[in-house]
Amino acid sequence: MFSLIKFQVHIVVLLVLLILLIESRVIFPNVPEIIDRESLLPDDFMIEDMVELENQDPEVLPNLYQGDIALNNEIFNQLRVGLRWDTFPKKRWENRTIPYAISPLYEPEDMITIMTAIRTLTRMTCLKFPKWNGKDKDFLLIWPIKYPKGCWSFVGKVGGPQILSLQPPDQTGPNCLGGEGRAIHEILHAVGIFHEQSRNDRDRFVKVVWDNIIPAYKGNFEKQSLENTTYSFEYDYKSIMHYGQSYFAKEKGKLTLVPKMKGEKLGQRKSLSQTDCLKVNELYGCLDNIKTAKKYYTLCRILGI
Ligand SMILES: [Zn+2]
Repeated sequence: MFSLIKFQVHIVVLLVLLILLIESRVIFPNVPEIIDRESLLPDDFMIEDMVELENQDPEVLPNLYQGDIALNNEIFNQLRVGLRWDTFPKKRWENRTIPYAISPLYEPEDMITIMTAIRTLTRMTCLKFPKWNGKDKDFLLIWPIKYPKGCWSFVGKVGGPQILSLQPPDQTGPNCLGGEGRAIHEILHAVGIFHEQSRNDRDRFVKVVWDNIIPAYKGNFEKQSLENTTYSFEYDYKSIMHYGQSYFAKEKGKLTLVPKMKGEKLGQRKSLSQTDCLKVNELYGCLDNIKTAKKYYTLCRILGI
């Protein structure tokens, strides 16, 4: 009798060990062992005061700067549509390379969506996205963060393991992974790109309907000063970095942004527009050389929306 119990205990211990082995690095060797969200977020990580948000886009939900941008004060004061490398040289990914690791908490189909986004960016731009080798100091850690939940990212390279949050589908809807578009949007923030409608010249192109915006979130519609901003390309309604027309609306369906050009739509989250594509390649110096410029102008024209 005693030896039977002992045998059963052994079996249980073996089973537990087996489960731990399967759950751990044997299957996902590229994911860091300690995932302590608190230790990964900077001290001055700013979460805006919570206001009840219902029926909103998952990019709006995290309650971060402009909805989905995790900022520290340093960047907050000097925003640009694309980061200025002379002001923030450390925020530029070196060698145009952004190593990444994906959380094992995602379902296989969600991992595939994320990897499809990364593949699109690899195809259309001169950036490289290798899987994290376990050694690189700086890398993107794509993780379904619970608080703040939603789709969000830092702008540019932060240094060390850098969280990029993509909320997986649940009973409420597809959240950030209904297609590759929202993953592309958040990765482009990490690359160094801000929202299109924060351009200083945006009032020529879109009308902000201030009365329809939840008062606490009006700040998310501020534009950037001309001293802090330069643009190499025309205002882009088709940008994957543009807010949708009802972001931060008081009521569902109310418009907060209206295009001034007839027939233009806002907030597509399918893929990079032609201009998004050029913007990234320009930011990382890939349009400087005639040969690569020719290649990426052609790629962007053919593959961009
Ligand atoms: Zn965003």
